[in-house]
Amino acid sequence: MKKYIYLILAVVLITFIAMLNDSSLKNESTRSVQDSTKTKKENKMEFQINKSEDEWKKELTPEQYKVLREKGTERAFTGKFYKNKETGIYVCAACGNELFSSDTKYESGSGWPSYWKPVSEHSVKLVDDYTFGMHRKEVLCARCGSHLGHVFDDGPDPTGKRYCINSISLDFKKDSTKSDSGK
Ligand SMILES: [Zn+2]
Repeated sequence: MKKYIYLILAVVLITFIAMLNDSSLKNESTRSVQDSTKTKKENKMEFQINKSEDEWKKELTPEQYKVLREKGTERAFTGKFYKNKETGIYVCAACGNELFSSDTKYESGSGWPSYWKPVSEHSVKLVDDYTFGMHRKEVLCARCGSHLGHVFDDGPDPTGKRYCINSISLDFKKDSTKSDSGK
């Protein structure tokens, strides 16, 4: 009789230990999954508009996608807004966020549209860019995170900044109230 009780006890004990191991293992694995998503979130910048790269690919032309989403650069002196002198607002070609006013556009001689200030400090986001063995400040659209260009410290007064922006990253909203009546 005693023999049976020991046997039953042993079986119960083994089952109990097995269950314990199993649940602690599960906890461990869920925790590590949670940890990794947390780190991913921390490394990835949060933007108001978060589309997948597939969605962007469908919405943008291949040329726009290359610059806006893959941080490419259009050839100097080829962009559609390089020589644009009309009055209006330059917006993000990907999301329509207002970025630069024609009032701050100037002739920099670089071959890309240049501005000495964004519409507001919240319209763009600056991040460190260490590609090509240089340290540059990359300019992103603060709303959708798309690549716009770079900012340099050789601009004119009053800021001394040169926001060097790809035409293809921009759309232009002409200010019809100013352009015709002013002439
Ligand atoms: Zn945008």
